[in-house]
Formats: sequence, C-alpha cells, structure tokens
Amino acid sequence: MLELPRPARRRIITVANQKGGVGKTTSTVNLAAGLALHGLNVLVIDLDPQGNASTALGVEHRSGVPSVYEVLLGEISIADAAARSTQSKNLWCVPATIDLAGSEIELVTMVAREARLKEALNSEAVEQIAPDYIFIDCPPSLGLLTVNALVAAQEVLIPIQCEYYALEGLGQLLRNIELVQSHLNPSLWVSTILLTMYDARTKLADQVSAEVRSHFGDLTLRTVIPRSVKISEAPGFGQTVLTYDPGSRGSMSYLDAAREIAERGAERKTA
Ligand code: ADP
Ligand code: MG
Repeated sequence: MLELPRPARRRIITVANQKGGVGKTTSTVNLAAGLALHGLNVLVIDLDPQGNASTALGVEHRSGVPSVYEVLLGEISIADAAARSTQSKNLWCVPATIDLAGSEIELVTMVAREARLKEALNSEAVEQIAPDYIFIDCPPSLGLLTVNALVAAQEVLIPIQCEYYALEGLGQLLRNIELVQSHLNPSLWVSTILLTMYDARTKLADQVSAEVRSHFGDLTLRTVIPRSVKISEAPGFGQTVLTYDPGSRGSMSYLDAAREIAERGAERKTA
C-alpha cells in the first residue's frame, strides 16, 4: 500500500449536508477507512443519533455504551468514549446512541452550547489516540449538533448526490457555514465537494456533476463515487466497502477519494 502524506497538523473534517440520504455517513466511514488503511490514525465522531457510522465501523452503539452524548455533556472524554473499529487497528469511532436524540434540546440551556465538541476535541485525552484525521458525521439537519460539528472543524466536506434536486438546500447550508465562520469559527472553510451515487447510465448524473464543478471548481474532487450495490450492502455486515469487497469499484473509488484528500492537504488556495 502506497504511503500517504501525514498532515503537518491534525485535520478535522465535518461531513455535512442537511439533506438525508446523500452519502454523508457512507463517505465518512469509507474515507476514514481509506486513510486508516494507509497507516494514518483516524477518528470518526458519529454525531447522528441513528448511529449509522458506528454500525458501519463495527462499533457498539446500544443505549448505555459510552458515547458522544456523554462527551457533549462533559461527563467523559473523547478517549473514554472512543472504541477501536473492527476494520482497522488505527481507526477509532466515538459512537452515537439513541440518547443523542434528545440532546439538541438539552444542549440549548448549556454553557457554550455551540462549542461542546470543540472543547472535547481540544482536551489532552485526545492525544491517547493522536489522530491525524478526525471526521465528524452530521445528522440530516442544521441544528445544534451540526453547529457543534462546524465549530469543532477546520474543513467542511459536502457530499452531493448526482440526482434531481441535488443542489437544492445547498444555499442554506452555505449560509449556515458563513454564519459559523463570522461568529464562532473564522478558520472554517468548505475544502471538499464529493459527488456520490453517480450513475454513468444517466444523462442527469453528468448534468449534475457539470453544474457542481462549474459552481465549486477545484473544490470538487476529481474522483466521483459510483452508485454501487456493494457500497450499500457493506454496513449490513458491520463493514466498510473497503473490507467488504476490496476490489469493487466502490472500494477503489473511496480509496482514490481518500488519496486525493490527503494529497491536496488542508491548505486553502488563495486566488
Ligand atoms: P446520509 O448519511 O447522508 O443520510 P448515507 O450515507 O446513509 O446518507 O446513504 C444513504 C443510503 O444510500 C444508504 O442506504 C447507503 O447505503 C446508500 N448509499 C450511499 N452511497 C451509495 C453509493 N455510492 N451507491 C449505492 N448506495 C449508496
Ligand atoms: Mg447519515
């Protein structure tokens, strides 16, 4: 396996899009696994009460296991909650349990409610894992959990499904990101757009990808994730597609995308 550059400084990437079913979780776990396969230390924070990222990484997330919920409450550290993925020895996941579902409301009355995750990631305990990359998988909403993810990160990765209405709602997401930039996290930026569920048989997929590239330019990864049954089957086996079917197109595409992300680095291009 070809070595990938270790980032000069830890990269924290939030995977966000308030639309459900666009490939946030799938992209989070497979990109994370791709980077881990190259020997990098990767930590996934599951911030969706559904716990789909935890499932795909083979990490237990029934109610009661130490999870991101207790981390946000300040009761335990990230290291206390992180479990090693069954997929790789240098891939970790802080699971989400159903307890997280009530937290959007509970957080409202808390001190520094938008910065709870950031505080947890800044703590010394994270160095027990010493991640090169942290990926945060967001729920399909723009509530306080997503705001916590945007405040904690440097970069945003937006998966866009090559389907009808793909760009609908993006304006709202970008405005929210700008709000967080101007009030809470000035160093946040959209570093990566990833086209997912590309179906080469349809004209529409090409139209959507052309439109996305004309709008976002170089932020859009060259690699496009194809629609693939293997990708959708993998979580049912508590796996990423990288272990479920290593030679498949879906697996290769996520490996390519992970390499592109690593090679592009974190630096913001100035025009
Ligand atoms: P989100 O996290 O944005 O809600 P998911 O990653 O859970 O989206 O994906 C939604 C559904 O689509 C899931 O059932 C997933 O397995 C499936 N899926 C995601 N990416 C692909 C793909 N490239 N090809 C086929 N199915 C996919
Ligand atoms: Mg999801």
